Amino acid sequence: MRDETKCLHSGYTPKNTEPRVIPIYQSTTYVFDSTEDVGDVFDEPTKALIYSRFANPTVMAVEAKIADLEGGIGALCTTSGQAASLLSILNLCKTGDSFISTSQIYGGTINLFGFTFKKLGIECIFVDADADEQTLHAAFKPNTKAVFGETLANPALSVLDIEKFAKVAHAHGVPLIIDNTFATPILCKPIDFGADIVVHSTSKYMDGHAVQVGGVIVDSGKFDWTNGNFPDFTQPDESYHGIAYTDTYGKSAYIIKARMQLMRDYGVYPSANSAFLLNLGLETLAIRMDRYCSNAMKVATYFKSSNKIESVSYPGLVGDQYYPLAQKYLKGASGVVSIVIKGGKPNAIKFMDGLKLASNEVHVADIRTCVLHPASETHRQLTEEQLVAAGINPGMIRFSVGLENVEDILEDIEQSLARI
Ligand SMILES: *Cc1c(COP(=O)(O)O)cnc(C)c1O
Repeated sequence: MRDETKCLHSGYTPKNTEPRVIPIYQSTTYVFDSTEDVGDVFDEPTKALIYSRFANPTVMAVEAKIADLEGGIGALCTTSGQAASLLSILNLCKTGDSFISTSQIYGGTINLFGFTFKKLGIECIFVDADADEQTLHAAFKPNTKAVFGETLANPALSVLDIEKFAKVAHAHGVPLIIDNTFATPILCKPIDFGADIVVHSTSKYMDGHAVQVGGVIVDSGKFDWTNGNFPDFTQPDESYHGIAYTDTYGKSAYIIKARMQLMRDYGVYPSANSAFLLNLGLETLAIRMDRYCSNAMKVATYFKSSNKIESVSYPGLVGDQYYPLAQKYLKGASGVVSIVIKGGKPNAIKFMDGLKLASNEVHVADIRTCVLHPASETHRQLTEEQLVAAGINPGMIRFSVGLENVEDILEDIEQSLARI
């Protein structure tokens, strides 16, 4: 199946007389005929469902759809994108370990990696997303267990050279984890370029309608966990009756360990109802992404022509710093355009507050056009230095183009710019 078809049909195939649409199995628990049957599932937890803290049929149908879209062998949904990033790293690192991340990542991820993980004794080594191979190699320590980056960074809109990062990570025997939230599998499939694990905030384009927060981790099934760097995968897990994940689950070791060990213990699994809503968003993802890209291209082109704008970042624009990488990795540059208004922060705020159609909200990738001022909103806790590292100018506005008629979006921009 091609992507548009997968969006509609993957993950759930009803049999004779079954419901056409994925049913909402809103149940915490599952019934067994005998105590022995329950015991069997404790011995082999992948055999049947026992409790919705880590597995549920509605959620699993959506997991299968996303895994299929990304070209992975399995997926695990989480209650937020933050939880997906958290578990993707905790599945590999423990106290005393380190991992490498580009600094051009989502502000919440910077907090998680740079501050919260530090308290757990896990070090995040930040590198520039544009660093050359030599610099990347030099960042590794003997205890480094993973490399992390964003396909299309929020809000810097830098495009990651995924193949370069995969090559370096693999040379050190560690996996590359890619946050593919802004691109979605419709515009980029990081696994095709060597990524081993893909994470998403499904709260953004995948859900698309701003109705529920969620995340997902996808496993490519391609990384060799038996290379000596990951004893937690190859040695018996005491908390899981002595199973060694690579022996028992082979290629699915990472995603099964994430579910059976981490999800079991941390319990950040979405409800069936949330998964049902996420699925509705996914059904139209391919067709929505197409329109986001074309609307955003027109908006970026308009901003480019305005003498009130100092600079426009949109990797779909010829001449953009990331245009060449976007041509290689992306089928479209997605729906977010970053601008810096002349006159800095005061004019940025004036422009934002003058918009009538576009809403001022702490969200991005909504179906409706929305704007955000990273320096005074989502990224206000970052120091000037971190702001620069994350690619954020104090006068920068993140303009998330929605699916309204683009002429209405452009008229709104025009009337608000006229007030400056
Ligand atoms: C929003 C976002 C996250 C965090 O996701 P939540 O669902 O808000 O927890 C992570 N990565 C990127 C790129 C994001 O845009």
